[in-house]
Amino acid sequence: IVSLEKLNKHFGSLHVLKDIDLDVTPGEVLVIIGASGSGKSTLIRCVNGLEEYQKGRLHVDGKELLPYGKSGQSLQAIRTEVGMVFQQFNLFPHLTVKANVTLAPLKVRGMTSQEADTTAERLLERVGIADQADKYPTQLSGGQQQRVAIARALAMDPRLMLFDEPTSALDPEMIGEVLDVMRELAREGMTMMVVTHEMGFAREVADRVIYIHQGEIVEQGPPHEVFDNPRNERTQNFLSRVL
Ligand code: ATP
Ligand code: MG
Repeated sequence: IVSLEKLNKHFGSLHVLKDIDLDVTPGEVLVIIGASGSGKSTLIRCVNGLEEYQKGRLHVDGKELLPYGKSGQSLQAIRTEVGMVFQQFNLFPHLTVKANVTLAPLKVRGMTSQEADTTAERLLERVGIADQADKYPTQLSGGQQQRVAIARALAMDPRLMLFDEPTSALDPEMIGEVLDVMRELAREGMTMMVVTHEMGFAREVADRVIYIHQGEIVEQGPPHEVFDNPRNERTQNFLSRVL
């Protein structure tokens, strides 16, 4: 569903992604780990066109995203099919929880308000915050806000979900409730690319873990291989610091 071929990304003179080859298959849960500044966010932001790249090829859900942001319509199509959840929840502060979730389905999917409401209620129920629907984001805890952000992404019925450190801004006691929602999504077969420092989650939920070092994938494999038997010295060093 996602295919990167020799993808290269520069920020000015900084070469951030170097010849990245990566395929993600439908239903796969891919966890991306690596040190700060290694290019994890940049990688997943390229997948939904939030960042342009300069060289290589990128296909998402059968559509090609061209370099230098020259994708036009396919960019819109891809954004519609790909949900993204950020570290900072990025909810619309002036909208209620329910309105946050119904906005895109109403505007982009052309749902009727009744359809959008029904969808929102179902999704808020699913992430365990049906009772918060009429509150505003600032009235919720961080964990609740992040669950709204997940419900909002799911409301577009995405083919792929991208997560960029979804629990890094949360107080420790709220991390579990967000990971539970993600675990459930994975169990239901959602295709997911997840940047996280939650190694327990990675070990348990990932089908594959990739380790990025200075813009290159230096190691990948099933979690038990990457975590218990890393082959690359850089992976070993990284894991010895975070595990
Ligand atoms: P972290 O774990 O801290 O989130 P990361 O692996 O997500 O790190 P990226 O955010 O992808 O790293 O950044 C990769 C490199 O690109 C870093 O050196 C960063 O400083 C640089 N970078 C990121 N965004 C920009 C930008 N908009 N302009 C210039 N440089 C950038
Ligand atoms: Mg990042």
